Amino acid sequence: MSGPVRLVMLGRQGAGKGTQGARLCEHYGIPHISTGDMLRAAVREGTEMGLRAKEVMDRGELVSDEIMGGIVSERLAQDDAAGGYLLDGYPRTVGQAEQLEKITVDAPLSIVVDLVVPTDVVLQRLVSRRVCKSCGAIYSVDTPPSEGWTCDRCGGEVVQRDDDTPEAIQKRLDLYERETGPL
Ligand code: AMP
Repeated sequence: MSGPVRLVMLGRQGAGKGTQGARLCEHYGIPHISTGDMLRAAVREGTEMGLRAKEVMDRGELVSDEIMGGIVSERLAQDDAAGGYLLDGYPRTVGQAEQLEKITVDAPLSIVVDLVVPTDVVLQRLVSRRVCKSCGAIYSVDTPPSEGWTCDRCGGEVVQRDDDTPEAIQKRLDLYERETGPL
């Protein structure tokens, strides 16, 4: 591909957006912009937005389009995104896709990848998923870090996500069909 790679990854929870996205980012030398990771960082930092988002996230629901549009347009305006980027977890609604069209009017997307994975496979991956609390690296009970539950990449603690409970998983998969499916 010539010129900056501006890539969007679509796909249900557990489809592999984070895992495959990290590989693509390394290949193209572009930043991995995951809205879920950005929201979890805001929760950890205890910002006002983070505290409000945590309740919504733990229920498996979606943060408002208004908040997401602000977060993404600020992030894409940072210097490291000028040479391209990979967006993971955004857009997730038709409203967000319309926002993104406006945000990228002067520097349009190059490619959208939609990862399609059967339901039984994503369910199995989500219940066994473990993530690094600090850097977001993804593991599973079948492919754990090499030393205990300590991240190979940054030494952070590897845990189960608060929203990887059976109830929240089901709600997020239903929401994906309803809100993101139309994309
Ligand atoms: P993810 O890590 O992509 O599964 O996102 C975790 C949670 O963050 C989601 O279940 C939502 O509550 C919230 N979230 C992440 N990205 C978005 C988005 N684009 N729009 C609304 N909520 C989001």
